Amino acid sequence: MDHYEITIVGAGLAGITAARRLIKQGRKNILLTDKGESVGGRLATRRIAGGCADHGAQFFTVRTDELEEEVQEWLKCGWIKRWFGDHYPRYTAVQGMSGFAKHLASDIRTSLHTKVVKIIENEGGYRIYSEDGAEWQSDKVLLTMPAPQIVELIKKSPLDVVEEEWKQIKDIYFEPTYVGIFQFKEQTKLPEDGHVDKGLAEGVERLVDHQKKGISSDVVVSVYMEAEWSRKHYGEDYVMSLIKEKLADYFDWNQALSEQLKRWRYAQARRVKRQPFIDLSGDGRLVVAGDAFLRLNDEAGRTRFESAYLSGKDAAAYLSW
Ligand SMILES: Cc1cc2nc3c(=O)[nH]c(=O)nc-3n(C[C@H](O)[C@H](O)[C@H](O)COP(=O)(O)OP(=O)(O)OC[C@H]3O[C@@H](n4cnc5c(N)ncnc54)[C@H](O)[C@@H]3O)c2cc1C
Repeated sequence: MDHYEITIVGAGLAGITAARRLIKQGRKNILLTDKGESVGGRLATRRIAGGCADHGAQFFTVRTDELEEEVQEWLKCGWIKRWFGDHYPRYTAVQGMSGFAKHLASDIRTSLHTKVVKIIENEGGYRIYSEDGAEWQSDKVLLTMPAPQIVELIKKSPLDVVEEEWKQIKDIYFEPTYVGIFQFKEQTKLPEDGHVDKGLAEGVERLVDHQKKGISSDVVVSVYMEAEWSRKHYGEDYVMSLIKEKLADYFDWNQALSEQLKRWRYAQARRVKRQPFIDLSGDGRLVVAGDAFLRLNDEAGRTRFESAYLSGKDAAAYLSW
């Protein structure tokens, strides 16, 4: 049976950052698992004909020196670029967000298509079970999925958890988000940088033209709906027509070549936790992190790229005691 020092569940930015930090500190026996077909989680890019579209995070901002230092390295590597904005510049990935996540995770032992469905505590640490029937042993575990998915997993796992910390995780609430992805025959009317987030119809949060953003050869647009709108219409089957109706002033739908809808069940946390990780076992062996776990002094106060990064980083420091 395989045995790891630390298993990290969730290969989004928090999990990848934690794994990178642990490896940097000399920990070699780390496994990063994800149920998806690639790393990145909500750093997600979809291929559309000859082009592509980011349909999770579009960009990120930087408020801490720690992330700023990494950003300078990533710029040198040519993985990211400055997109727009002066006060807090918006950085984005040169080859789409999931390509960027792949660069970050390239040196990490990763097991994809591996949905963890149960964890059992035993003498040596934890026995971890995946949906496809695999099992392995790990001394420590770091969970970095959106909090509701952590709750789902823990409920199926006979584990002794610290009651107070368990309550904190159950209290985190995530909102959904709908994203429409459209390919057009011709150029759009969007501004030169390809980004609009003002003056849009009620319920529409943001429009992004990926050709103008510089990551797609074809004209592909992502339309982000607001959390409240997405919650109100969650699961309805006419969501796509409602979105198109709202954008009649922006796009000529006769020019559309294809359309797709992405439904994020857990996009952003409305209720966050002011603590960068949670020690669920009480002795540093079962730890929870992710974008909803914010440092006490976090200025922005919301889930985002930087909160996922810092949470992963702080959890790694704690786990490597
Ligand atoms: C639509 C949308 C727009 C956004 N826009 C921005 C933006 O413009 N700027 C910004 O800064 N942030 C933005 N964000 C937020 C940002 O993407 C997230 O804060 C960040 O990527 C979260 O990283 P994470 O590692 O905490 O979680 P995730 O990226 O969600 O990673 C968790 C991973 O766990 C995996 N997983 C879940 N359950 C299991 C299981 N049982 N077993 C194995 N694996 C499992 C999932 O597949 C996933 O890959 C946006 C998010 C969305 C959805």
